[in-house]
Formats: sequence, structure tokens, C-alpha cells
Amino acid sequence: MPKRNEDTAAGRAPERCAYHEAGHAVAHYTLGHGTVYGITIIPNEATGNLGSTNAQDMDISTPEDVENEVICLYAGAAAEVRFDPGCRDEILAGAEGDDEQAADWLASLGYGPQDEARLRERAAALVDDRWPQIDALARELLKQQKLEMEEVEYIIEGDLESLAYCRRWLTRST
Ligand SMILES: [Zn+2]
Repeated sequence: MPKRNEDTAAGRAPERCAYHEAGHAVAHYTLGHGTVYGITIIPNEATGNLGSTNAQDMDISTPEDVENEVICLYAGAAAEVRFDPGCRDEILAGAEGDDEQAADWLASLGYGPQDEARLRERAAALVDDRWPQIDALARELLKQQKLEMEEVEYIIEGDLESLAYCRRWLTRST
């Protein structure tokens, strides 16, 4: 199933946006939950979105799949908080789109606040665990504004040789 995390918090620094989207992407990759087809922090004036992660092909059929989906949703704000802990309350309050989707998934399992807290902790632990990858991805995103599927994979894998090679033939569209 297709999903696009669209993040709209107004006035947010591009750095925070980059770490937020990198958090979503690395969570999908780490959990093997769907495929990230691209990430952008180019604002979309028509929709007001400041950034989005295009994740698709998630198989969401078991409770474990649903938990992974919710962790991927929470990982955006978790990465943003780790990058800028001073703005924690503002960040958590601003992740409305992600939280609405997560709330729907939690309700589908009949989950309550304890489960929400548990999955938020798992998202934060994943972000801590994979911080070097999130950091690398966010930095590239700030440089390029937009990353294609292959670039995301190579950056997360730390395969800079393949990254350089793929950029020779990759047709960049903005
Ligand atoms: Zn998000």
C-alpha cells in the first residue's frame, strides 16, 4: 500500500525537517517495512508540505506489521527530537499528520495509551541505534534537497562508491 508522510509544521528549520524525514526513511529501511522511493525537503507550495518521505509496498497484515508501521510514523518526530531536544514539546505537538495515521492504526488493533508509549519508545530506540545513518541521510538531504531510492539505500548502507556511481547516471529531476 502507498503512503506519503507529509509534514507541514510551519516555520520549521530545514535541518529539523531533514532529520525528521531521515528518521522515517531509516525506520522503514531498518525494519524492512516497505520501500522508500524517495525523500524531499523541497517545500510544496500547493499543499504547504515542507517535506515528505515516499514509502510504498508495505505489507500490513499482522499486528507486528501494524506496529512496524506505527514505529515508522513515530520515527520522524523521534529523530527530530534527538536532533533538537530543546524543541521536544513543539516537535511532538507538530507531528499531527503522522500521529493521526498512527492513532488510526493503533485503534485498528484496539491498542491503548500504554501501547502508544511502548511504540514511541521503540521508535526512539531505533533512532538512537541508527543515528549515524539518520545523520548521514539528513546531511545529504540538506545538500541535495531531494534523494532518489538508490541514493537513500547507498547512503544508509554507507556505500559511497555506489552512491557516486549511481549519481553519474541518475537523472535528477527537481
Ligand atoms: Zn513525518
